[in-house]
Amino acid sequence: MSDYKIHTTKDLKQLMNGYFSDLSNSKKVAWCTSVGPAELLRSFGFEVYFPENHGALLGASRTAMDFIPESVKLGYAGDICSYLTADIGSYLQNKTPLTKQYGMDGVPKPDLIVYNTNQCREVQDWFMWFAKEFNCPIFGIKPPRYLDEVSKEDIEDVSAQFKEMIPLCESASENKFDIDRFRHTLNLSKEATDLWKDCLNTGKNSLSPISFFDGTIHMGPIVVLRGTEKAKEYYQKLYQELQNNVDNGNGFLQKPDSRVYWEGMPIWGKLRYFSNLFSENNSAVVASTYCNSWIFDSFDSKDPFASSALAYTEIFINRSEEAKFKILKKHIQEFNINGMIFHDAKTCFNNSNARFGMPQRLKEETGIETLVIEGDLCDLRFFSEGQTTTKVETFIEQMS
Ligand code: SF4
Repeated sequence: MSDYKIHTTKDLKQLMNGYFSDLSNSKKVAWCTSVGPAELLRSFGFEVYFPENHGALLGASRTAMDFIPESVKLGYAGDICSYLTADIGSYLQNKTPLTKQYGMDGVPKPDLIVYNTNQCREVQDWFMWFAKEFNCPIFGIKPPRYLDEVSKEDIEDVSAQFKEMIPLCESASENKFDIDRFRHTLNLSKEATDLWKDCLNTGKNSLSPISFFDGTIHMGPIVVLRGTEKAKEYYQKLYQELQNNVDNGNGFLQKPDSRVYWEGMPIWGKLRYFSNLFSENNSAVVASTYCNSWIFDSFDSKDPFASSALAYTEIFINRSEEAKFKILKKHIQEFNINGMIFHDAKTCFNNSNARFGMPQRLKEETGIETLVIEGDLCDLRFFSEGQTTTKVETFIEQMS
């Protein structure tokens, strides 16, 4: 087993501790979806909390299954978004892994809740439940969905919705909108997201210094702290270390037999299992759609509304089947991929792209191997370790 380590990981705990401590001590907190307009919210001085991050924590700590039945009792089906069902259930039971990990009594109380349906409609139901519970103002951004290309009209539509949020942000934050502060925050976000992209792109080297499984850990700051100096500084340091490892020929596997792409969401409670399974079979999982989802190339502080509207509307999950196909094909070439794992997450069809023939079409057109794994982001009752091990080992053999 390789003793490869990314040393910057040590800084992550401290950074996340600081983030949750700021949330606990903040005068004003806005809740936001993971690919919602965090920069605009931060420009009003809100600390921004992301319920999906909490969902991932419930998955990673394997506590989600304790909480999902609470939401089912409320009438939510057991096969809808397990972030939603685990998160609401955890709130109802007044228990959260945030207590053990960050000393918090519970999730921070919102002064404003904002969601963007660019990823799914589930977030609307989820966030509206909490808005009612906390008697909190809520704003929903509803962009056009499943796009081949993002048109000028689409950008105007979403920009106008961002601008409509401003009066609500002003009253909830008790701060006036300041375009320069918005530009500054967007600029910080752009610098951080460019660095995150550089980090992920080190995976293009034949000896990759970062695996998909490492990426799911290191993506924390780009999700919850984008728009801050801290996130930028973190990725500067991480990138430096990864590039240094590339220069020294130091990869997480020294001579991998195959290079794999992970399509779909992580199975949060099984990251270590998957990481070990691939390493033991000398196969390197070097890239993913999921970690790439927080690369926002289009941010431009010169035109903050239009550019952030474009960046948040052109994300992979909001694109047509054809557009997704082209993006995946490009990644296969750029990362020199031999095989693609499609995680068919039982409670998130929005992030599962295996159900309409994509794996077969990609195999035909590019010649790579593809494998569909059944599982879930949080609910491990949909995952069978024994079956998956056999399937993955056969898949790895087919690639070599
Ligand atoms: S994209 Fe999927 S996992 Fe994320 S909030 Fe929507 S339904 Fe849940």
